Amino acid sequence: MARGLETSAAVSCRDLVKNYGAGDSLVRALRGVDLDVFPGELTLLVGPSGCGKTTLLSVVAGILEPTSGKVEVLGLDLATMSRSKKVSFRRENIGFVFQQYNLLPALSAAENVTIPLILAGYSRRQALGSAIDLLRRMDMGERAHAMPAQLSGGQQQRVAIARALVHHPRLLVCDEPTSALDAKTGHTIMELLRSVAVEGDRAVIIVTHDSRVFEFGDRIARMEDGHITGIDRPHSRLGREQQPALSASDSMAPFMGSPAEGG
Ligand code: ADP
Ligand code: MG
Repeated sequence: MARGLETSAAVSCRDLVKNYGAGDSLVRALRGVDLDVFPGELTLLVGPSGCGKTTLLSVVAGILEPTSGKVEVLGLDLATMSRSKKVSFRRENIGFVFQQYNLLPALSAAENVTIPLILAGYSRRQALGSAIDLLRRMDMGERAHAMPAQLSGGQQQRVAIARALVHHPRLLVCDEPTSALDAKTGHTIMELLRSVAVEGDRAVIIVTHDSRVFEFGDRIARMEDGHITGIDRPHSRLGREQQPALSASDSMAPFMGSPAEGG
């Protein structure tokens, strides 16, 4: 799929409204959200519990339909896509890390990670090779064949992140991806996610409460009560070209090619 101008947004939301329920039980989760998210950047979405972060991610990822307003993803208006087109578009272009992980309990860690590759037509052997390779880089090599129920929360979280990354989606959306991780593992995972954005020229959106990860954000969108209330660009004076090199970028370079290149 061709991309437009270099500066064009990977995601753009305009006056996005999402209501749940009706009448007395109406919940106005999104009350007119405007947001642009760019490739090559890591965008953090921060705000108190219940302010609409998960709802916004779900609408952006095409999992939930907005009540009104517009969402464009990679230049396409999700509302104009048929259901089947949306499913295949999402499968190919969007990686989603759910707050509750959503691993399939009957599949091993590595098999869970293969799912996007199998759906994209890779052989089981190729897919398992790539999945295990990625899990190794996330310090999960020894647990690659364990079942989800045998893993700690932090290990399950890393499997969920690997599954969202393994097919190199152009948009990666993560709901609280470091919530179950200790400081060191959280740091490693954030370096990986930032290198996916910057080195891989992908758009990465991360919902977080975790102030330890704020330093990784190129853009920090603050959300309150169904609105985006402000955007900070902590590194903006340096400019994109002059940002400090990432220590993880070299070791993460193999993620940036197509899955087939890894063998
Ligand atoms: P956050 O992720 O920021 O904690 P959510 O997007 O999960 O917020 O929720 C925003 C608001 O919408 C909250 O008031 C929540 O209770 C409500 N909400 C979320 N999902 C549903 C649902 N399926 N049905 C009704 N209300 C919901
Ligand atoms: Mg949430």
